[in-house]
Amino acid sequence: MAKRRKRKSTKNPVLPVLLLILGILIISGLLGLENATTDMPKATNIISKIFTSDTASKDKVSTNVNKDKEDKNTSDNSTNGIEDEEKKQVITPLTTSLKLHFIDVGQADSILLEQNGEFMLIDGGNKDDSSIVVEYLKNSGVKELKYVIATHIHEDHIGGLPTVLKSFPVKNFYIGKRTATTSIYKNLVSTAKNLKLTFTEPKVGEKFNLGGAEITIVSPNSSGYEDLNNDSIVVRVVYGNNSFLLTGDAEDESEAEMLKSGQTIKADLLKIGHHGSPSSTTAAFLKAVNPKYAVISVGKDNSYKHPAKATMNRLKAASIPVYRTDESGTIVATSDGNNITFDKGLGSYNGR
Ligand SMILES: [Zn+2]
Repeated sequence: MAKRRKRKSTKNPVLPVLLLILGILIISGLLGLENATTDMPKATNIISKIFTSDTASKDKVSTNVNKDKEDKNTSDNSTNGIEDEEKKQVITPLTTSLKLHFIDVGQADSILLEQNGEFMLIDGGNKDDSSIVVEYLKNSGVKELKYVIATHIHEDHIGGLPTVLKSFPVKNFYIGKRTATTSIYKNLVSTAKNLKLTFTEPKVGEKFNLGGAEITIVSPNSSGYEDLNNDSIVVRVVYGNNSFLLTGDAEDESEAEMLKSGQTIKADLLKIGHHGSPSSTTAAFLKAVNPKYAVISVGKDNSYKHPAKATMNRLKAASIPVYRTDESGTIVATSDGNNITFDKGLGSYNGR
């Protein structure tokens, strides 16, 4: 090359000048490139920011999609047609239902909740109901209980639980701190300890999920109640646009505390407290919960004279349809996230 240049330069004296100008241009060009190179990180930053914000926005959309899947929120957070398409496929409809089985255990409580293959049992009836509850759970496809809640330590709520704990693996076991010297209570504690179950104390405001359903503990708001029924762990379950308040045997004192706490207690379905006792389901509480449906777990001809006339009259006055295990046996309520349906007919407002 050098030789050729040299030869060319001898032929044309203007050429070195042109080469010089060219050289200057190249050098300034290189300087320009160098500047461009120093700018490169900035450009890379911008590109990476674009990708980051793109990823973030996708994450945001995907979070919203998941949220939508749970609560059927139809607000549009997508940024393009493809994501719109993906979102539509994911959110409609809620593919599985939430089922609440109010198992007929006579004058006692046992409620099985089922959502998307996950199960929760609230109470296990009396000791004599053990096999009824275990069989019912087996027939319902229970292989594992994600949650077991012992609302309070009366026999008609915990009596059947030891057999349940021995029959299914239990992931989370909720029980209040109150203890007792009864054989029923001791049996529950020793069984749970032998199975190395962790005892989880309920904390008001604590939330957990059963499939796509969100469960919040709303009571007990206090402790040391004179009446053990007020120890009852009360949970509010939300599934899509439907909500459920399951009150154990909570009495007026606990109901007043729930009202005072300012928590959301409104629910489409209210499991009537304490088997329809007159000391539960106060007018103020009923008004605040404002249920579309009520379910009473109560035994036929029980010695406590539940459900009480006073309670049934309050439900009748508020025109709340009632479903009762003493009249219909086990009741299954099914929610698709918008509507609740029942497998049994309406109960009467007859009280005792
Ligand atoms: Zn009870």
